[in-house]
Amino acid sequence: MGNCVSRSQQPFSAFRSSYAEKKPETSISDSLPIAEPTTSFWSIPAAPIATLNSQGNLPSHADVVIIGSGISGASFARTLLERGDGLHVVMLEAHDVCSGATGRNGGHIYPPTYHDYEDLKKRVGEDMAKKMVQFRKSHLDEILGVAAEEGITKYTQCRAVEGVDVYFDKPTFIEAQRKLKVYQRDMGKHAGSFTCFEGFEAQQKFHLSPLAVGCISTRAGAIHPYRFVTSILSRLLIDYPKEFEICTRTLCTSIDEPTSRCPFYTLTTSRGTITTPHVVHLTNVYAPALLPFLKGAILPVRETMTAQRPGRNLHTSTLHGGRSFVFFDSPSKGFDYLTQLSEGEHELMFGAGFESPADSRVKGMYGVHSAAHTGGAMPIYFGAESWGAEALPTTPKDDEDAGASEGIWAEGRVKAIWSGLLSESVDGMPWVGKVHVRLAGRKAPPASSTPSTLISPHSNTERQKSALTAAPGEWIAAGYSGEGMVHAWRSSQALALMLLGEDLTEVNTWLPESFSVTDERAELAKRTFKPGVVPSGKKCVFSL
Ligand SMILES: Cc1cc2nc3c(=O)[nH]c(=O)nc-3n(C[C@H](O)[C@H](O)[C@H](O)COP(=O)(O)OP(=O)(O)OC[C@H]3O[C@@H](n4cnc5c(N)ncnc54)[C@H](O)[C@@H]3O)c2cc1C
Repeated sequence: MGNCVSRSQQPFSAFRSSYAEKKPETSISDSLPIAEPTTSFWSIPAAPIATLNSQGNLPSHADVVIIGSGISGASFARTLLERGDGLHVVMLEAHDVCSGATGRNGGHIYPPTYHDYEDLKKRVGEDMAKKMVQFRKSHLDEILGVAAEEGITKYTQCRAVEGVDVYFDKPTFIEAQRKLKVYQRDMGKHAGSFTCFEGFEAQQKFHLSPLAVGCISTRAGAIHPYRFVTSILSRLLIDYPKEFEICTRTLCTSIDEPTSRCPFYTLTTSRGTITTPHVVHLTNVYAPALLPFLKGAILPVRETMTAQRPGRNLHTSTLHGGRSFVFFDSPSKGFDYLTQLSEGEHELMFGAGFESPADSRVKGMYGVHSAAHTGGAMPIYFGAESWGAEALPTTPKDDEDAGASEGIWAEGRVKAIWSGLLSESVDGMPWVGKVHVRLAGRKAPPASSTPSTLISPHSNTERQKSALTAAPGEWIAAGYSGEGMVHAWRSSQALALMLLGEDLTEVNTWLPESFSVTDERAELAKRTFKPGVVPSGKKCVFSL
């Protein structure tokens, strides 16, 4: 969720002009990850693996090196370790585990559907548009299933919720209803169930401000993203003690191609070098730093998140954690998003979909205006009556969690404010697949460097080796345009199967081909990139 093209810009063309004025942080568009100066509420208390292997020597070699420990890294590592055959996998993370966008996001598993379907259809055709929407939708059940398999459903608060799009602008609501009709007509029984509520009915049903003009509700999901990722990585470390290592506080600064003396990639990091036949870029907004062809194709946009104490009048139907909201103002103002924790002080996790232009005084800090908007908006959206008096902080006696982090958070309504970077893909599609050497700008290791196993333990001739992976190379899954929770998991799963050289017949039935890493997409990005400006509209991009 976030400054997402899919949910706002494409569905409502009027959003475009304002969106184009928002400045991405171009200065970091091809730089390496900074240590974020703000603390995400999700990341406290820190997972025991947060700073794992942050000192000492790096392993000198691995069969696969994954860069990045967010949801993409967790999904990729899980599939690779579970489906692979004893591969040695090292994950490098520049800072603490899950300290990037995943550990700082809104916690929504809320796929854009009717919002941008019509626009997608015009751009990529009806079949591909349907496939893309289905792919997003499939993430909710997939993630619910993974949480259940891992036994972390309760701990990660992973749940299906009623997702409510709240509209405060009449023309925007009318346009949304029209788009919903088109979407439902085309998708038929695959559309999912939606209900529209007009004015007063919407206000009553969802205990909203009298300013709300209508709502559209459907099935969505919510999760504690930091706990989800760190739980899975922790379990993998236990189950694969010899195969899997995570090295935190290890910034990869460059990748060198193989030489006559070293038939592997050599990754230089802040802690030394590591060689490998496979480099997997799960670096989200920072992907262009190590893959310069993506400069201009994946752009960074900073957004602000908060954790807030609920007003004392908030209705139990809002408070029990069974609903998520997206609040749409007029097209020029964008939207905000809200989920809730189902424990502790039942904090409302509230984020601003449109960031104000980069006005922060400290690198990586949220903008003052975004923070002011995010901090003040909720009593307006719910209305003075439904919000009620401000809640008082609970004492450690009332709530163990609050006690554990006592002193860290503010005592007013807004307990915590932080920001994070999401990655806008220039054509609105994630980049998923093998990176051709032409694009990577580096030679790949020779086929003889492919991780393999001896078929006969007494022989080591090439003929009797069996490859454990596809041919060496570089791989990527990134650029989810603010909708990582409904793209990253299955994109990275598919990527792991590609690297393992598995039969992709089944994968191809659900992974949209439009996500492939192609010369055409890279070329398009190069042609359309304007320094300092987020792309102003996909139609415009494609007509160039
Ligand atoms: C404020 C905010 C709110 C959001 N809300 C939502 C939401 O509610 N729902 C939703 O679907 N999406 C949301 N998103 C988007 C979503 O969080 C991301 O798309 C998703 O988390 C990306 O996951 P990832 O694993 O690819 O990247 P990240 O989680 O960003 O992980 C990448 C990691 O790679 C590391 N890294 C990068 N470069 C290097 C390097 N050179 N060396 C070593 N390590 C490196 C980084 O430090 C980082 O930890 C939001 C994003 C933000 C910023």
